[in-house]
Amino acid sequence: MPFQFESSYLNLPDLFYDLVAPVPVATPELLVFNQSLASELGLGEIPEPSPLTDILVGNRVLSDNSMALAYAGHQFGHFSMLGDGRAVLLGEHVAPDGTRWDVQLKGSGKTMFSRRGDGRAALGPMLREYLVSESMHHLGIPTTRSLAVVSTGESVQRERVEKGAVLTRIAASHLRVGTFEYASATGRVEALKALADYAILRHCPQYFESDNPYLDLLGYVAEQQARLVVQWLCVGFIHGVMNTDNVAISGETIDYGPCAFMDQYDPATVFSYIDEQGRYSYGNQRYVTMWNLARFADTLLPLIDPDQETAISYAEHMLHGFSYYFDEIWIQMMGRKLGIHQAGHEDMPLIEGLLNWMEMNHADFTNTFRTLSNWDRNPHFGSNVCSKVGVEFADDETLNEWIQQWQTRIASERDSYELMRSVNPARIPRNHWVNRALSLAESGDFELFHQLLEFLSAPYEEVQLGDEQWARFNVPPSEEEKVQFTFCGT
Ligand code: AMP
Ligand code: MG
Repeated sequence: MPFQFESSYLNLPDLFYDLVAPVPVATPELLVFNQSLASELGLGEIPEPSPLTDILVGNRVLSDNSMALAYAGHQFGHFSMLGDGRAVLLGEHVAPDGTRWDVQLKGSGKTMFSRRGDGRAALGPMLREYLVSESMHHLGIPTTRSLAVVSTGESVQRERVEKGAVLTRIAASHLRVGTFEYASATGRVEALKALADYAILRHCPQYFESDNPYLDLLGYVAEQQARLVVQWLCVGFIHGVMNTDNVAISGETIDYGPCAFMDQYDPATVFSYIDEQGRYSYGNQRYVTMWNLARFADTLLPLIDPDQETAISYAEHMLHGFSYYFDEIWIQMMGRKLGIHQAGHEDMPLIEGLLNWMEMNHADFTNTFRTLSNWDRNPHFGSNVCSKVGVEFADDETLNEWIQQWQTRIASERDSYELMRSVNPARIPRNHWVNRALSLAESGDFELFHQLLEFLSAPYEEVQLGDEQWARFNVPPSEEEKVQFTFCGT
């Protein structure tokens, strides 16, 4: 396999990594392989599966420089020293277009950061990451990608005994807010500076020229996070574990654990079994992002200015501006979901009017926006918009008033419905289907998993009338089908 591994992380002080090889496994089997991603990476057609499988499970290593990365993080608000406890970075692969990608094996065995963990991953969660991250990619939302899932032939003990697997993750980098918290916790400013310079080099080299590159790094990361989280909100995505160690500096969605897409709209929605307080609920994601960015800013203070007071005032100013920016792009992107090209603050009542109605009526997030997107073809809310069987909204007074206002607002816009159909997905990975696909795959039947992958590869494409195979994936879950909790499976 023509991976061309480089290891620029070796230029960092050695406290940032531990050179370690993946731990070989008993009987690997390649279960899923992402040929289209392989082509994008310039890996070409892969002729023989067996050496490839060995590389993607860690039984064959191509370089001596594979490593587990050190990081820390605030987990549900509490600080801990962490690090790659079950992952190994094989190296960086430079694609034909010059883009540098981290290639990491997740579930590859113990490292010095494993603490009490076994260093392994269960098949279900790795398939979940594969499916949901690929779906995110097709939705056009920044994300790490998944190249392959290989089963290990070994079992792992979780709440029950499960099959073990290794996921190959492709990322713009694995630098996290938690990596900066780690550097900061060591108290070594020169190491922190080396890390910040490395991050700037990899993600925003234009800032080396600026007056205060580290303040600009903060601004860059804040902007990427704002854009990312607004995009999540626009498709009803709930990450589930927005701890600072799961926030990538690159602005990619990373670490798919108990994540899910919301069916009926309710800002308090939480799926994660471990999130008892709802810290990472759908609606809290914007506030958590602010909180996480404040932790990032804390780490950068010594680099922003030698005088702490000055550094704090610069950073506060930057983050204050970011909260405005967040609202600004939220309004813009929500406006686009309603067919308004350049929405402004004056459109807030319209946007919130719909959201309030949706919340009161338990309307399905995805299907409501998609139904509105097709209003020019079929001005009618069918049963797909409500998870309660048989509910029709034709006589709803509040809704009818809202529709009037909305129609008046978009009368002056061009191509509203085309815009709406390009931003409101017709297809999302609904939790009850994801779970069904995963449990079948765990027992060796991958048909539904592959069907879902194909369905999700064209999220803005309408499901054709009468196409029952695809249409079933769009039906909100019945009460019995509803998934209450998802597990991160670590
Ligand atoms: P996560 O919940 O996947 O974001 O992981 C949080 C931390 O726990 C990271 O430092 C992981 O490397 C570590 N971790 C998670 N699962 C395991 C495991 N099975 N063995 C060792 N470390 C793990
Ligand atoms: Mg993590």
